[in-house]
Amino acid sequence: MSIVVSNLQKSFAGTRVLDDVSFDVKSGELVGVLGPSGGGKSTILRIIAGLDTADGGEVWLDGKRVDNLHARDREVGFVFQHYALFRHMTVSDNVGFGLDVRDEPRDKRDARVAHLLDLMGLAGLGDRYPSQLSGGQRQRVALARALAPEPKLLLLDEPFGAVDAKVREELRRWLRKLHDEVHTTSIFVTHDQDEAFSVSDRVIVMQKGRIEQIGTPVQILDHPSTEFVTRFVGDVNVLEGTVKNGHAEVGPLTGPLIDAIPDGPARIVVRSYDLKFWREDPGSATVKRMVPLGDRVRVDALTDQGSPLFAYFPRRSSLLDGIETGCRIHVEITLARAWPA
Ligand code: ADP
Ligand code: MG
Repeated sequence: MSIVVSNLQKSFAGTRVLDDVSFDVKSGELVGVLGPSGGGKSTILRIIAGLDTADGGEVWLDGKRVDNLHARDREVGFVFQHYALFRHMTVSDNVGFGLDVRDEPRDKRDARVAHLLDLMGLAGLGDRYPSQLSGGQRQRVALARALAPEPKLLLLDEPFGAVDAKVREELRRWLRKLHDEVHTTSIFVTHDQDEAFSVSDRVIVMQKGRIEQIGTPVQILDHPSTEFVTRFVGDVNVLEGTVKNGHAEVGPLTGPLIDAIPDGPARIVVRSYDLKFWREDPGSATVKRMVPLGDRVRVDALTDQGSPLFAYFPRRSSLLDGIETGCRIHVEITLARAWPA
């Protein structure tokens, strides 16, 4: 199912929550919607599903305008953060629920449930109750339940928000694999950029009811179109500096700009992986702290001009040779972006 959303407007009690939101999703695509809490992400999904109505704008599913179509006639599956599984029903009955509602013949229903349990890695757990499952398993049951009636469109609203970090990563990998097998057109809402980037074909970045950028994960990382996207995506250093002849300058530090802006005072934004440090006397900064984070080390430093900086290095990187708390370092900006101050 393809989706076209055009010029959606929505206010709650006079406060604008969606401001002229337009995008499209191709059939079979998995699109992530990424942005801070309160930005209007859930409201978009609810309007597409028919659970809420827009004040203006249109929603088209497979070339058909659906604004006046009841939610149950839209063939949309929904999964929320809090897997509202039926606690008194077994896993199989939860998954079969949507099929029972429409009186699917028993043998077809049972075959579909068994197939989905298999697909979700839940084979053998059909007779359990939700309370006898782990959080990750419950979330997979919720997905199986949404997929059972073969929706043409799957809407996922922070579906992994309630499970712990390790399981969340597993679910992500697994959702992407599922999508590649089933090809249901999907919209996946999250405020977690790693999650959005690791599952989506394209990502819509939004804040305060407006779309900031739509693009592939690489386009958004490497060519953010607004300052908001630049600062929201990835770990960044934001420094007061100037732009001179297409170069960023922060005190004695200089670096090339990815997109030129006119000369003058600027906020210089440098990704944590677009900085290099090495030990040097006298150097231009002092290492304040080294934070081991499993496979990476975060190095916090302070320039002689008083700007705090941080960068991540692989744990065994030769760039870390001789670097320790209190030592003097040279800092090189390998790539920067700038916005007029
Ligand atoms: P997100 O999913 O990005 O966190 P939401 O779409 O849930 O954002 O909400 C956007 C804004 O709309 C928030 O400020 C929220 O408080 C407000 N909002 C959402 N639903 C309602 C509602 N039914 N009544 C009043 N305000 C609402
Ligand atoms: Mg939400």
